[in-house]
Amino acid sequence: MAEVYIALGSNLNNPQRQLDCALESLAQHSEIELLAVSHRYRTPPIGPEQPDFINAAAQLRTALAPLALLDALQRIEQQQNRQRDIHWGPRTLDLDILLYDNIVLDSERLTIPHRLMGERAFVLVPLADLNANLMLPSGKTVAQLLANCSREGIVKADSTDQ
Ligand code: ATP
Ligand code: MG
Ligand code: MG
Repeated sequence: MAEVYIALGSNLNNPQRQLDCALESLAQHSEIELLAVSHRYRTPPIGPEQPDFINAAAQLRTALAPLALLDALQRIEQQQNRQRDIHWGPRTLDLDILLYDNIVLDSERLTIPHRLMGERAFVLVPLADLNANLMLPSGKTVAQLLANCSREGIVKADSTDQ
């Protein structure tokens, strides 16, 4: 069994509901155990002009190998009508694998740890809710990475946020 951390994000078609639905699918998956979910945050978009995101992180336990887990996450994205058109454009759902045990992997389809997690406050802030002392394969903790990031514009989302 592997311990995995993932990032969830949405900025289209009721982002809070998109996250509810994705978490429900993860919890229902026969080979995934949903262990913990962070607070949700409203975060400014990166890339082209588009609505704010709702971001969160989750801790999972799974017997799925990394690529099989990516398949499962992409299936959930597709169920929620994720369209891949504009790079870093608006999306109903983005599910990224951040950490998978302590493995380091760099293949065509999958890079673990996620290649930009160390510089993205919208990933690190929710991850720190789950475990700020979590250590990456680099030896740095989430708290250490976060200390070098700007949290500007990132606020806890309340349930009335769309
Ligand atoms: P970013 O990677 O900057 O967050 P994105 O999440 O918008 O961008 P996607 O369109 O969701 O990018 O995914 C593009 C491809 O990234 C996927 O098809 C997948 O093969 C690849 N990928 C590489 N590493 C990962 C990872 N750790 N988690 C999820 N997808 C990954
Ligand atoms: Mg992403
Ligand atoms: Mg993605």
